[in-house]
Order: sequence, then structure tokens, then C-alpha cells
Amino acid sequence: MTIASLIDGKAVAAGVRTNVASAVASLVKKHNYAPTLAVVLVGEDPASQVYVRNKHKFTREAGMRSLEHKLPEDVSEDVVLKLVKSLNADPSVDGILVQLPLPNHINTNRVISEIDPAKDVDGLTEISAGRLSLGRSGLRPCTPVGSVILAKHVLNAQGEDLSGKHCVIVGRSILVGKPAAFLFLEENCTVTIAHSLTKDLASVCRSADILVAAVGRPMMIKGDWIKKGAVVIDVGINRVPNKAKNAKRPTKLVGDVDYKAACEYASAITPVPGGVGPMTIACLLRNTVLAACARRGWDAPKSVL
Ligand code: NDP
Repeated sequence: MTIASLIDGKAVAAGVRTNVASAVASLVKKHNYAPTLAVVLVGEDPASQVYVRNKHKFTREAGMRSLEHKLPEDVSEDVVLKLVKSLNADPSVDGILVQLPLPNHINTNRVISEIDPAKDVDGLTEISAGRLSLGRSGLRPCTPVGSVILAKHVLNAQGEDLSGKHCVIVGRSILVGKPAAFLFLEENCTVTIAHSLTKDLASVCRSADILVAAVGRPMMIKGDWIKKGAVVIDVGINRVPNKAKNAKRPTKLVGDVDYKAACEYASAITPVPGGVGPMTIACLLRNTVLAACARRGWDAPKSVL
């Protein structure tokens, strides 16, 4: 019997984008200024191209300026570094996002480290990560922030909050797992981080009030790994063959959680697609507004706080 309610990431993300748009409108009114996001895309990876297209579209829809810098797959690391340096130096650029993954011949850490932390809207530089781990203010990584917002949203609707809840995060990447752990800790959750060497992962997951899956393995987390009534945030995006009869496309997207089975245990769960994914872009736009205000010493409009 299905009991879980669906956490509508598209709707929550649309709400965040509306708040961003109203913040941008107030910056234009007060300071005659609309923030600018610069996105750097290296190569032809189809998924990255879709993400960048969507970022461009939503940035403009929110009333901000969007700059796209497309570089060929075989571009040298030096050229990428020079571009990042020039965006750092450009006073009209508020946020810099380098779309990952970069081609293998480019050192990702070196490129990310080059980004001015004041413009680090992806929250991935050492400074941003350090500030997060120390509990200081700063720009936070978008997907983990989106995951926290969704968890809060559903718990508030259940008349609860995150404080004191046991949050288990499966995955310890710099992009998702680790920053998510710090963010849920900031919300006063008791946090456990699990990974590929965790013993008896099923039991660890079963102890979670909030289960965040950021593994990158299709439907790895089974229904009976989920405590009855838990909230499940599935960050995973995995492309798998579509075996449905009369399928329109040969492949489809699934999460790290076996969604159908999980619905019998969870109280609420994010779908894939349509869960965390839309939140990532919405939080990127929000970070761009926050970066623009912080760099200029302006108070950020209330709607993005
Ligand atoms: P990584 O590959 O960097 O990290 C995966 C993590 O999962 C690692 O910490 C790894 O552990 C752990 N892991 C792998 N196998 C197992 C296993 N069998 N049991 C337990 N843990 C395991 O991935 P990312 O964090 O970058 O991404 C995770 C997923 O989230 C992917 O599907 C990605 O596409 C998706 N994603 C979605 C976004 C969105 O906007 N919705 C944005 C970013 C990512 P160990 O460290 O021990 O190797």
C-alpha cells in the first residue's frame, strides 16, 4: 500500500525562483542593478549542455543577466584558468559557475580554487567549504541547500521541524554528501554520513528520520531500508535503459532509491526527476543574488534570506 506523499521539487523550486525574481526587482528599483551570473561550459557533454541551457533560461526569467562562456573539449587548462581570472576581475560579474565535470586533462580542483570566493555561487571553493564547516556565513553548495529546503518544507507541512531528527546521508562527496551533512547539522539534526565502506548500510539507513541518498547508483536503496514514516530526499540522477512496453525513449532517469518500494515505507519522498534537480538551479539563482549583495555591501532582500 502506498503511503508516501510526493515532495514536489518543481513547485518548491518555482516558489524559490519567484522569491529570487522579487529580490532582483527590488535591487533594480533600489540600486538600478540586476545581478549577473557567468557560466563556463567546457566540451559537449549532453547532460551539461541541458543543465547550462536551463540555468541560462531561469537566470533570465528571474530578471538577471546570464553570460555563457563555451569552450571546446580540447581547450587547455591555462585558457580555462585565464577565463576564470578575467571573470574574477570583471566587476559586473557577481557569480561564476564552472559546469562540472570538466574534461580529464583539466585539473578540476585547480580551476575551482581559482574562483573568487565572493563569486563562488556553487559553494565549492576551499574558502566556501571551510566557512561552511566552521559554521560561518558564506555561499553554500546548491544541491545540498535544495535538499535541506525540501526536507524542511515537508516536515513543516507535517507540523514538525528538522531539530533533533536523525539524518542519514549516503554519500560523502565534496559536491553533495559532505556539505549536506554540515547543513543538516546547522539545522540541529543528528547526522550520520554513510559511504561505500559503511557496514550494514541497510540498518544505518533504517535508523534515519531523514534519509538523503547521494550515491549515483540506480535504485540501490531498497524499500525495507527505510524506517516507517521517514522523509526521503533522493539526490541521485541515473540514466538507465527504459524497459517499459511502448517506451517513447530508450532510456529514463531514476534516483538512488527504489521509489516505488520506498513509497510503502516513507511518509514523503522526492521523485526523480522533479525532486532535488529543480532546487539546484533555484538555489544557484538565490546564491547569485546573495553574492551580488554581499560584494556591494547591500542588505539582501528579505525574500532570499
Ligand atoms: P560521487 O560519485 O562523487 O559520490 C558518490 C558517493 O556515494 C561516494 O561518497 C561513495 O562512497 C558513495 N557510494 C558509492 N557506492 C556506494 C555504495 N554501494 N554504498 C554506499 N555508498 C556508496 O557522486 P556525487 O555526490 O557527485 O553525486 C551523487 C548522485 O547525485 C549522482 O547520481 C549525481 O548524478 C547526483 N547529483 C544530483 C544533483 C542534482 O541536482 N539533483 C547534483 C549533483 C549530483 P565512497 O566515498 O566511499 O566512494
